[in-house]
Amino acid sequence: MARHRNVRGYNYDEDFEEDDIYGQSVEDDYCISPSTAAQFIYSRRDNPLEEEYVSEDRAHSNYCISSHQLTGVEKAKLDLCLVRMKEVLGESVPEKVMIEALLNSRFDVQQALDSVLSQNSEQDMKTKDDETMSGGKTTKGKVRDSQTTRVESDVVPKVTKMTVSRKKKPAGFEVPCVTAEENGHNAFTSQKGHSAGDANANMGVVEILPKPAPPSQTVQASEEQAMVPTPVKKSGKTKQQIDVKAELEKRQGGKHLLNLVIIGHVDAGKSTLMGHLLYLLGNVNKRTMHKYEQESKKAGKASFAYAWVLDETGEERERGVTMDVGMTKFETKTKVITLMDAPGHKDFIPNMITGAAQADVAILVVDASRGEFEAGFETGGQTREHGLLVRSLGVTQLAVAVNKMDQVNWQQERFMEIVHKLGQFLRQAGFKELDVAYIPTSGLGGENLVTRSQSSELNKWYEGKCLLEQIDAFKSPQRSVDKPFRLCVSDVFKDQGSGFCVTGKIEAGYVQVGDRLLAMPPNETCTVKGIALHDEPVDWAAAGDHVSLTLTGMDIIKINVGYVFCCPKEPIKACVRFRARVLIFNIEIPITKGFPVLLHYQTVSEPATIRKLLNVLHKSTGEVTKKKPKCLTKGQNALIELQTQRPIALELYKDFKELGRFMLRYSGSTIAAGVVTEIKE
Ligand code: GDP
Repeated sequence: MARHRNVRGYNYDEDFEEDDIYGQSVEDDYCISPSTAAQFIYSRRDNPLEEEYVSEDRAHSNYCISSHQLTGVEKAKLDLCLVRMKEVLGESVPEKVMIEALLNSRFDVQQALDSVLSQNSEQDMKTKDDETMSGGKTTKGKVRDSQTTRVESDVVPKVTKMTVSRKKKPAGFEVPCVTAEENGHNAFTSQKGHSAGDANANMGVVEILPKPAPPSQTVQASEEQAMVPTPVKKSGKTKQQIDVKAELEKRQGGKHLLNLVIIGHVDAGKSTLMGHLLYLLGNVNKRTMHKYEQESKKAGKASFAYAWVLDETGEERERGVTMDVGMTKFETKTKVITLMDAPGHKDFIPNMITGAAQADVAILVVDASRGEFEAGFETGGQTREHGLLVRSLGVTQLAVAVNKMDQVNWQQERFMEIVHKLGQFLRQAGFKELDVAYIPTSGLGGENLVTRSQSSELNKWYEGKCLLEQIDAFKSPQRSVDKPFRLCVSDVFKDQGSGFCVTGKIEAGYVQVGDRLLAMPPNETCTVKGIALHDEPVDWAAAGDHVSLTLTGMDIIKINVGYVFCCPKEPIKACVRFRARVLIFNIEIPITKGFPVLLHYQTVSEPATIRKLLNVLHKSTGEVTKKKPKCLTKGQNALIELQTQRPIALELYKDFKELGRFMLRYSGSTIAAGVVTEIKE
């Protein structure tokens, strides 16, 4: 699972103090070593209360062994194999069953595990059938795998990784003592009077600001470097011009790409829902799932087993909350989905914005339990804030998973109550009724996820789509492949070999290995040495793809999260001042001139100030209703001028919808959404 690990340049919310969280490395992941596992497994034997169980099991085991008349060597082999099986199965399966399986498979641990797990799943299915027949309640976390007919060993044993951002930046990239001036990046920095170190103080990184070249030089340089269609050497072959649209049609077997973000209040069940969906789709191996179950049980968080499929870092697991944006890939009948699991906790809204800015469609997960839906929906809850955010960031289609329906006995009245309350709000937020679908689910029980529910309690009143069918039914947006290339950096890291890697979503155009690209604002060019899509090397990629580019001819120190790579011939503009039309959200204090905000734009999070309040506008006609207002209050539409601390690369909304939207936050709350109307040089 890839994460947007915003290594540097991400100026984390000033309201968020726990700087350590972001410095955490994936290497810190919670993992269970064989020795710890063995300790855990055997600790049970030290417990007198367990003695009875143990001795009974041992007696059976001894019987099994003696009935097979094993030699000393075979017994030793059996013991070894047993330890390996227990590392995976823990104590969930009686020892005698494991021994039986090992003897039958002639000590082949793999085969023995498969046979034990498939026996288990048959039993699970039987239990489920019995429960369904008797109309009983689904057992939490046990009912799973609607696709038990699938042969376990055929299942791909990993969740597909989108990008590789596991390597920490070597210390060399952080230059704590070097000032911008010493590096020759003087004019701009000192003029603005800001130390880059201030902005990044909470990261312990002093960043070197890019030196903006004079405009005339910029054009000249970029034109010199623009090489289209000059052939570039690529492993002895010349770069070919490609018909991207035709290639896109052919790629993925004609399936359309769709970027999907999961949003909702903390604990609504987002990670569990999607982890379970991935498991049912066969993207997570049954053995891995079993390991998660064991490990989460050991950590005292048994109910989080499915969430662990998506919550990858040790800290996320320990705290039981998603912090970064997790990305993975799965397929439906007609689509290839890039799934982004956004954090629900309000401390991580900046990360959520990064995820949502790259999404085409969203699943909003709400907790149907009494009191819980209400907590997420009221002011301060993330259901409303996330809904508003994704809509402001350009998402128009939404599926609402009314989750944990098992907690309310699958009651139609409760479902309708939630649909009614949310419907009103989502309409106000700008979603069209036809573009919002509501699906009752149980992420933990796996109900109504990949197949229509068999539960009679739900079938009584619900005949609609299951979650997977709804995902498949989303319309794929038009990709701007004809526009000049744009990629907004979500991660920068050093990989093996020469050059370095950046990851991000291609917002427009396409890129081929061998292309020259311009990075803005640093205004530096580089060459694309390699492209990876879904971890696979490819020759080209186009708008809508989440890619990892290997770049050469540029120093990694110049590149930060939030920078934009673009076509050198038609570059994106960089500025520190721009005008925008904003919609003010529910704010308590009025916005005045000089108001400090945090600007969230694509993967950028940058301190800014509201420099001018130009006009108050009529909400629907856009006419000026008041010139030079003294302040702006909730619900108002206005034209303002913003100034950022450091230059950022922006587009006008009218030219590039995707790159012309932003959000403003203040003191931990989102206070406005806006679109760029004018870029000041
Ligand atoms: P997130 O913060 O939205 O990602 O929520 P998690 O997936 O981490 O789930 C939070 C808690 O809710 C965990 O204890 C889950 O086991 C539990 N949970 C998730 N889905 C369901 C469900 O459908 N039914 C029930 N009863 N509990 C659920």
